[in-house]
Amino acid sequence: MDSQDTQKSFKAGDIIMSQGESGACAYIIEEGQVAILIERDGVTQEVGTRGPGTIIGEMAIVDDAPRTATIKAIKDCEMLEITSEDFTQRLKTSDPVIQMITQVILTRYRDTLTRAEILGESLTYPPPETMERNYAARTDVVESVKIANEFKAALDNGALDMHYQPIIDLAKGHVVGFEALMRWTHPEQGFISPGVFIPIAEKSGLIVEASKWALEESCHALKRIESKVKSVAPLHMSVNFSSHDFAEADFVTGVLGTIEKCGVNPEQVKLEITERLLIQQPDNAKDTLQACCDAGMGIAIDDFGTGYSSLSYLYYFPIDVLKIDQSFIRVMYKDERSLELVKSIIGLGKNLNMKIVAEGVENIEEARLLQDMGCDTAQGYYFARPVSEDDVVDMLLNWEPLKLSA
Ligand code: C2E
Ligand code: CA
Ligand code: CA
Repeated sequence: MDSQDTQKSFKAGDIIMSQGESGACAYIIEEGQVAILIERDGVTQEVGTRGPGTIIGEMAIVDDAPRTATIKAIKDCEMLEITSEDFTQRLKTSDPVIQMITQVILTRYRDTLTRAEILGESLTYPPPETMERNYAARTDVVESVKIANEFKAALDNGALDMHYQPIIDLAKGHVVGFEALMRWTHPEQGFISPGVFIPIAEKSGLIVEASKWALEESCHALKRIESKVKSVAPLHMSVNFSSHDFAEADFVTGVLGTIEKCGVNPEQVKLEITERLLIQQPDNAKDTLQACCDAGMGIAIDDFGTGYSSLSYLYYFPIDVLKIDQSFIRVMYKDERSLELVKSIIGLGKNLNMKIVAEGVENIEEARLLQDMGCDTAQGYYFARPVSEDDVVDMLLNWEPLKLSA
């Protein structure tokens, strides 16, 4: 799929889809109007119209049955295309209850349509157009489908980038590794924050493909960086993964295959995951993390302290690194309780033989305080922002070991 496929224009009079044909896509109408035509015994009847904010052709992409109606544009139309491939991917990665309910509702709806056709019942109440339009307005569905389609196009067209933020050894003042962070510069809207596109990529299931790409890109980058820069010890690369990635049956083989293909030692790779993922799929996560750990990779818990979970999972899962969330670092100076919390997390990590990374360190005072508390490593704007691979190389070539003590 490329970017032209997602937005479609039709002129008044165009046939958008034909009754009896198989359907590979549905459309959300953004502008214009269409007529729904049903042919029976050689006679074609108009059974309704649809306008902006409504969806057409959705049944065929779900159950692969032939189109039950012909859709004809009666005004010039702008449509947003949802392919059956995209829909299947979304459904596959959704909650099993949602999958089941979707299938059940659709089967019952098909039955109702068939019954109505046989008995000549009216299908006009409640008016589907109003229901769909209200739903679309309520959920911002059009906007998120649009962003998801554009994100998919960016993924296919090589328009995504990875940036790398150095992680610093606080005692020695040098760079020990990086966190890989995804960047998307939209052709019209410019920089889009990962805080916006990552949740949409997760909901649409596109995150799985994006994570595969991110891992491969980051491992290649690590090899290239190492070939240009001499470091005291092998550098590591920390890559973010979501619960959707973990739900894939071939996740571990895929990750290991990529690392091997790039010629990176698995010990240089860390998987960053959140506490939420561990709580959502504990059994699956345990096996997956153990397999990653057995292969030599490290496991880092991201945004540690924000997950409201029981601490017992720290024993249950093979975890190497705790990343203290930046919200605690931010208020550490002003708020005694946050300071105590950070101190406790550092102590906890040390007792459990884990490394600690403090996130979001923005000034030297925070860095010193963390070092005094025995924190191993830190990451934040004070040391370096996330930058491109070329800038990482320049930065490392000119790196002066930081001296934190006053
Ligand atoms: P995160 O994993 O917690 O990543 C750290 C975020 O903090 C990054 O934001 C980074 O730019 C920002 N940051 C680093 N140092 C500082 C600092 O000193 N001060 C402040 N205020 N912020 C700092 P970014 O790049 O906008 O990413 C946001 C979130 O998007 C990430 O949070 C992560 O959850 C997600 N994300 C980014 N890239 C990926 C990816 O490749 N895959 C996945 N699954 N998620 C990603
Ligand atoms: Ca992270
Ligand atoms: Ca984080």
